Amino acid sequence: MLWFTCVNFSFFTFVNMTLPLYFYKTLFRNYNQFKCDQLYGRLLLEDKVHTLNHKLSHHLSIKNEGNSVESRIITSFNLGNGPIKILVWSQMHGNESTSTKAIYDFLNWVTLNSNVSNQNLTDLLQKVTLKIIPILNPDAAFKYTRFNANNVDLNRDAKLQSQPETKVLFSIVESFQPDLCLNMHGQRTIFSAGQKPVPATLSFLSASSTKDRRISEVRLKSMAIINQMNAMLQNFIPQHVGRYNDGFNINCTGDYLHSVGIPTVLFESGHYTNDYEREVVRKYTFLSLFKAIEFATNFGEINIDESVERNYNEIPENQELFVDVIVENLQINQEVKRVGIKYEESPEGSYVVFKPLVVEIADKSSFYGHTIIDASRTLNHFKFKDLKVGDEFPELKINENVFVKKFKI
Ligand SMILES: [Zn+2]
Repeated sequence: MLWFTCVNFSFFTFVNMTLPLYFYKTLFRNYNQFKCDQLYGRLLLEDKVHTLNHKLSHHLSIKNEGNSVESRIITSFNLGNGPIKILVWSQMHGNESTSTKAIYDFLNWVTLNSNVSNQNLTDLLQKVTLKIIPILNPDAAFKYTRFNANNVDLNRDAKLQSQPETKVLFSIVESFQPDLCLNMHGQRTIFSAGQKPVPATLSFLSASSTKDRRISEVRLKSMAIINQMNAMLQNFIPQHVGRYNDGFNINCTGDYLHSVGIPTVLFESGHYTNDYEREVVRKYTFLSLFKAIEFATNFGEINIDESVERNYNEIPENQELFVDVIVENLQINQEVKRVGIKYEESPEGSYVVFKPLVVEIADKSSFYGHTIIDASRTLNHFKFKDLKVGDEFPELKINENVFVKKFKI
């Protein structure tokens, strides 16, 4: 089947054109054939990543780029020999693993298609040189924390470059001289794509490079890439794409790189209905990554006209309008209330546990809920003498996308 897929597309070329939507639909349909099954869920395990790197190193060029605070190796994969240089990194924040899974899916796709001489892949790798760092902050990744082992947010360290991981990244920027950077992150479930009750499944940002958020050619190039990803994604997850606020902060990596003239696209993999393990969003992140790389093959010839900024601004801006669960008609002290619950993520053993915390008790909720439960229909499971903001709501604990008490979401 994979072979069929490959030859099926061999007549398309990358010369001054983008791959048709059909190509992405086929990637989507055949995703399970190249999905990297060794990685699953939120917490990526160190031994699994090492085994995977070892396996991929038989097919791909792998390099030790430096070390983390706790002396873990920061690994890059190096592909292609084309003139457009693209630097990709993920898990700068250790608790944002979705894009890392998508990167490994991409590396797996490359490996499998190298074996069958896929012409699309050959063309792609003649146009681009890719340096891909799946996990920039390994100390945090394997502990599932945001900050590095010195408790520093690496995405606020771009100007200072005080941390070993940041130094590794910027020494690569210095030596590799990328034409484009893809800065891949993950976002919480609170975000909606605009004002509508639609989760921001993927959000992007072409960061500001000045305080006044001036639109520069560098920003426009990043916007052009985002527009292409957005247009492709609308065919799969209409309205689920958001745009991040572009408030300027020179300490953020994208803002800093834009200020020194390197187009940088921020990816934020977010929530999709019931997908707390982010196995669905992983697939859309993979498609987006593929699209960004493929479109960048034409980087020298991209026509930047006034439609680029307009199309970018038409992507709805992310809003913080969601809680995870809203429990309606809940009796608390003989009053009927609407209760908003957010999940707090914490690693336990080899999993991430989602702890349900009450964030709002009101007559009318000011949030949308990814899941709505009517307490009056739940056979007295949900009845409280007392409940206040900050309390845990253990009945709604989830594991592997299923409520522990078997209220399927
Ligand atoms: Zn992040």
